[in-house]
Amino acid sequence: MEIDINGVKWLVEAADGETKKLHPKKDRINLGLTEYCEGIITIRQGMSESVTRSTVIHELIHAFLFSFGYEVNGEESMCNFFGSQADRIMKLTDEIMKGVNFNADREGNTESN
Ligand SMILES: [Zn+2]
Repeated sequence: MEIDINGVKWLVEAADGETKKLHPKKDRINLGLTEYCEGIITIRQGMSESVTRSTVIHELIHAFLFSFGYEVNGEESMCNFFGSQADRIMKLTDEIMKGVNFNADREGNTESN
């Protein structure tokens, strides 16, 4: 499928793990790959749902950084971190937004909008 990140088009595709880009060397495998010049994000087929999801997030972080023109030291480490933790962070964010009242004077608001 095609996605748009800040006006940059990316093709997201699933591929067999034995393709050259996902298994470039005997001792090297990629669960996913983001090709910046080609605008292609490739995700290995046949992994568990949680590993697939982590891999999709990992590659999307690469694509977002590129599409917004960011350069980050330790990008791979950051992508690994968000790949494994972003779902939990978003779940906690949702819980906190529901569970904590951040509106300083909700009582005084008349909701007149
Ligand atoms: Zn990476």
